[in-house]
Amino acid sequence: MKGDKMGSKKRICGIIGNPLSHSLSPIMHNAAFSHLKLDLEYHLFEINENEISQTIYDLKLKSFRGLNITHPYKKVIMEYVDVLSESAKETHSVNTILNEAGKLFGYNTDSEGVVSALRNGNMDIEKGLNNVLIFGAGGAARSAAFPLSKMGNNVMIVNRTFRRAEDLAQSLSNSGNSTPIRMDELPGLKGKIDIIINATPFGMKGGPSGSFVPRDLLGPDITVFDMVYNPMRTPLTLAAEERGAKVIYGFQMFIAQGAAAFELWTNERAPLELMRKTVLRNLEKEGDHLGR
Ligand code: NAP
Repeated sequence: MKGDKMGSKKRICGIIGNPLSHSLSPIMHNAAFSHLKLDLEYHLFEINENEISQTIYDLKLKSFRGLNITHPYKKVIMEYVDVLSESAKETHSVNTILNEAGKLFGYNTDSEGVVSALRNGNMDIEKGLNNVLIFGAGGAARSAAFPLSKMGNNVMIVNRTFRRAEDLAQSLSNSGNSTPIRMDELPGLKGKIDIIINATPFGMKGGPSGSFVPRDLLGPDITVFDMVYNPMRTPLTLAAEERGAKVIYGFQMFIAQGAAAFELWTNERAPLELMRKTVLRNLEKEGDHLGR
């Protein structure tokens, strides 16, 4: 099996994706496993798509406990899962697998991560009165769009490929209000948006540089949530800070989605503060500071 070294007798958890070099999931989960003295260890499986089947087969032989799935396999992994959660079905995206005696359960804990990050940022999303503008129409965008739409928030989607924004808005139409937005309509939304969410790789290490979000839209009445977590501060969050917007950082979602996965695998409460400190320490090691 491809991956990092697996010498001990501990039960395996890990992450499948490609590339994985910047993933902080192993550091975060291994810190939490050791803190609670759990008999688990977390590995990286940086593989190509044609290796997924063999990797899952090998991991099942080793009675693995859980997996995270990341870019670009959150959709394709669904065919290896026996039971999908509601949230995985509606977002067409699985980022967490739980192995119960050989039966694989697929979840989308990114949605929980989005909701938790917004709640912790004191956003009153449950009231359902917010105008939310989401940049992107991939798995991460879907993970935000479905729960927010179900809570009654007005969800607008803007995406490079407009057809995908239309498709996402269409699939949200059963749960609530949603509209696809063209790039040239963005200036007209100034002053009408409560929450902006970036669900594209803009600003991510190794991703496209800069920001997809027009600076003019940012101001003190807006909350900006950038899902990109590495680096901690992105061109978008820096611009938002400069223009007095409230900022929710991607690491907040990263920790919450990881904590939800941890709880599925272990049936223990995730040591959130330890996970947060571990992630922040490692982001800061890379030269990024929030100044708090
Ligand atoms: P995805 O399914 O591949 O979707 C990527 C989206 O970004 C698509 O809408 C795509 O538009 C758009 N995009 C990509 N490159 C672009 C470019 N050069 N110009 C304009 N638009 C571009 O990826 P995903 O899984 O949704 O993840 C998106 C980002 O969310 C990731 O980069 C990651 O940083 C972040 N994320 C964070 C967390 C967290 O825990 N904090 C969790 C999940 C994801 P098209 O439809 O036109 O291709």
